[in-house]
Amino acid sequence: MTMTPRRGKNTLPPGPDLPEAKTRNGKHGQNVESGFARKGPGRGLFRPRLLNGLFGDPVVYCHLAHQGRAVLFDIGDLGPLWSKALHKLSYVFVSHTHLDHFFDFDRLLRAEMTFLGQRKRPLILAGPPGLARKVASRIDSYSWNLLEDPRPYFLVMEIMSGQNMKAYRVVLENGGRAYAIGKEDLPTEDSFDLKACLLAHGDIESACFALEERQSWSVRPEALAGMGLKPGKWLDKLLELKRNDKKEELLVPSTSGETRFMSSDLEKKLLVKRPGSKIAFLTDAQDTNENRKKALEVVRGADWLFCEARYLNQDKDLAGQTNHMTISAAAWIAREGGVRLVTPMHAAGRYADKGTRKMFIHELESSFDKLALYESPVKFDAFESRIIS
Ligand SMILES: [Zn+2]
Ligand SMILES: [Zn+2]
Repeated sequence: MTMTPRRGKNTLPPGPDLPEAKTRNGKHGQNVESGFARKGPGRGLFRPRLLNGLFGDPVVYCHLAHQGRAVLFDIGDLGPLWSKALHKLSYVFVSHTHLDHFFDFDRLLRAEMTFLGQRKRPLILAGPPGLARKVASRIDSYSWNLLEDPRPYFLVMEIMSGQNMKAYRVVLENGGRAYAIGKEDLPTEDSFDLKACLLAHGDIESACFALEERQSWSVRPEALAGMGLKPGKWLDKLLELKRNDKKEELLVPSTSGETRFMSSDLEKKLLVKRPGSKIAFLTDAQDTNENRKKALEVVRGADWLFCEARYLNQDKDLAGQTNHMTISAAAWIAREGGVRLVTPMHAAGRYADKGTRKMFIHELESSFDKLALYESPVKFDAFESRIIS
């Protein structure tokens, strides 16, 4: 079955923990919108958006539900993101440092400069070997003589083979400098685990990432209605307390006004355990058996995979020459990996014209079982940094 949201409208498919998609009135895609229209807690941690559409730089901004923070995959064109959205970032995952995946680091750096001293934890960048030096070089390219303390710094994790990694602290000190630190010096992450591997992309490596949410809790809407309680921000607080194994008294709006409850009492009645969700990001890899095998290990079982699908299968020679993947290579990985939903990205500009676009979209639609296709860039509300379509 092909499931396609209204093309070009950036409607979101259901969150990863929603039940298997069903069609309504026998028409494909309608459930996609109704699924996303379901608001409030319980749709899983990851709320990703492909920023620049099918043909733009592959950038995924992923809000972490109920946590007021976000992660970013790749630093190509970040134009749609205002500083407020960048300030929410806890992690930036960088596949590799080709221009279309790294050039907007400057926008990130500038956002950090306006946010100095306000970060609760430093921004962590993760990417292939050599990333720390490249981040330091970018910082080094500016003059900083007018800068006062506090100074920005980044933590960098370099993915090595075999799930190993090296850690660095990149500081602004006579320009940019990278210092090796221990893995134990990185802040711990309580909400998800990172899986990554390095894929061959010509004579450089491109990192493929997956984030696996740790077991989590959902709110039971029927229990909420049964107790006469109204949903609101307090549910975020309740989930946060549960995640951190804490309790406190909460003021909860109900049909009869407001009532005070101990969070531990509410937890027992309202929350139900659910398996964590998983998202994955795979781009700029040549199609080899070795790459397919390694990518599968990382993306297997993902609820939502954002995957490069750069060329039509008939142009596979071109894909080979440029070290990119065809639609059919992406579809093979999604199928073999049991991925629930795929968003293709990084399509070659040669297919953006009217005639070839139709052929390209048709091949996408007939290659993936469950497809969430975003042809157009996303729009953000300028003041709130909220996505508006
Ligand atoms: Zn690229
Ligand atoms: Zn590349």
